[in-house]
Amino acid sequence: MSARSLDFQPDDITPSEGDPDTWKCRCGNLTGIGPGFFHLEGTREVDPAREPWPSEEYLCPECGRVCKNGENGPVVVRRLHMDDVILL
Ligand SMILES: [Zn+2]
Repeated sequence: MSARSLDFQPDDITPSEGDPDTWKCRCGNLTGIGPGFFHLEGTREVDPAREPWPSEEYLCPECGRVCKNGENGPVVVRRLHMDDVILL
């Protein structure tokens, strides 16, 4: 059994000042610098150009935090064990 904590807060992923399209995760992942944020459907990374993406969720592949892009920027809604995520 894993004892890893999967704590998260809704504001763990925030837009960069002056650039709402650039996000920064509390773990340090930053759009354009780190791996960025992947499109997620359930526990699977998807390519929205090739398949449905109704969840509109984004994954931070560094820490498993999952967010939706709300009117005021990203909102973290859950956090996954990366071992459980299927990447493209
Ligand atoms: Zn992260």
